[in-house]
Amino acid sequence: MTSWLTRKLQNLTTGSGEPSSGYSEVINDLQREFNVSSEKLREIADGLKCEMRKGLEQTGQTVAMVPSYVTGRPDGKEQGRYLALDLGGTNLRVCEVHLSGDGKVSMKQQKYTISQELQTGPVRDLFDYMATCIDKYVTEHSSMETRELPATKLGFTFSFPVLQTALDRGTLIHWTKGFNCSGVEGKDIVELLRDALSRKNVPVEVLALVNDTVGTLISQGYKDPNTLLGVILGTGTNGAYFEKISNIKKLTNTSLNPDDTMVINMEWGAFDNERRVLPVTMFDNKLDRKSVNPRKQTFEKLVSGMYLGEISRNVILHLIDRNILFDGYSSADLNKMWSFETGYMSIIENDKSADLTETQHILENTLSLPKTSLEERRIVKKIVELVGTRAARLAAAAFVGVTEHCNSVEKGCSIGIDGSLYHHYPGFRERVRAAMRELLGEKAENIKLTEASDGSGIGAAIIACLANKA
Ligand code: ADP
Ligand code: MG
Repeated sequence: MTSWLTRKLQNLTTGSGEPSSGYSEVINDLQREFNVSSEKLREIADGLKCEMRKGLEQTGQTVAMVPSYVTGRPDGKEQGRYLALDLGGTNLRVCEVHLSGDGKVSMKQQKYTISQELQTGPVRDLFDYMATCIDKYVTEHSSMETRELPATKLGFTFSFPVLQTALDRGTLIHWTKGFNCSGVEGKDIVELLRDALSRKNVPVEVLALVNDTVGTLISQGYKDPNTLLGVILGTGTNGAYFEKISNIKKLTNTSLNPDDTMVINMEWGAFDNERRVLPVTMFDNKLDRKSVNPRKQTFEKLVSGMYLGEISRNVILHLIDRNILFDGYSSADLNKMWSFETGYMSIIENDKSADLTETQHILENTLSLPKTSLEERRIVKKIVELVGTRAARLAAAAFVGVTEHCNSVEKGCSIGIDGSLYHHYPGFRERVRAAMRELLGEKAENIKLTEASDGSGIGAAIIACLANKA
């Protein structure tokens, strides 16, 4: 440890003990702030259940509980080739999904990036770009080698809150994540895509508008009939589950059978925008103020990939300002908002080397900080662990809330999870499981967590297929 750091840490020590107790003091403070106790988890799970009931009764609630108009479940016999367009918060994917009719799925996909300008510019530009990507995919990547005609029927996965009025109709409630396009108010999302496709002369038919969680649920349900909940842990976070139609009190469409089930897109990212139960810290508030949607998506901002790196950056900067890290100096790179990517957290969590060399590489090479000490790297690693653990535990509280709402703890169920955060963050799954055990004891074992890779795209194709048959 450098001598200045030793001094700083000793100055911070209030209790007796060795020099390293100063370090523990700093860490203890942070630990207290980021800790979510078992009791707090229970409060959060119960709070979510309460909000779920409100959202099922009335429109316009914080947890919107949006009816998806996807009724029934796939039976695995769905067959054919379908396109899916998946607009996430970071990536745009065009997928071609082959459903073979025996529960098996194969898929090809191409990723396209969405520039910052498109994310915040006129909505027409974004949709024109998406139409161009579909056109490119169909001409360049479709199954030409098998001499099959390109698939032309499409399910559109749109990972933002939509007030849906039919399977192929819906308007945006508000943008989330980094998106904030103009000119979308009151417009039908499917119409926007259909218009762009016709402007660009792309002969593709849009059959369904699907939220990514709904797609994930359906794709996992296709493989495992015990699936109750589909979850996204990617740029943002959200959940969708099967609800009995008679429980969706706000639905006035009487042609539906009350004993059937409909998928509800919960939009749980907005949970506790009132900030009654979630443990929001000053580091979260700093992020929130600078986000494109202040005071919105409170739960999402504590849990999902877009935000975890930025929260960690805020904590690191705070310790720099208190002269605890890097002799009080930041770097131009670290000073930039969003520069501490959530992907770096995965690398740091995975860094098991004695000298924390991977962590050193990120701090010194990627973020251009001057030479760091091992003790400082340990502090950074600890910060990352605290932010990552809090996210996993809060996600677990939501899983438990939904499972309890559906009375599925005793009888057991599966949760299908898609999104890069869940797929790549080391130990995320184990931390979720540990928190679920704190809430449910042994019964937590009744709930299976499964990776639903590419679920959002595959599910949209299955739903397009169901719509095509209807
Ligand atoms: P989308 O949300 O666009 O559907 P993803 O599910 O791929 O896309 O999520 C992308 C987000 O996941 C990124 O914005 C980033 O926050 C996070 N992410 C990507 N790679 C990693 C990683 N290795 N570790 C942790 N988080 C990651
Ligand atoms: Mg996605």
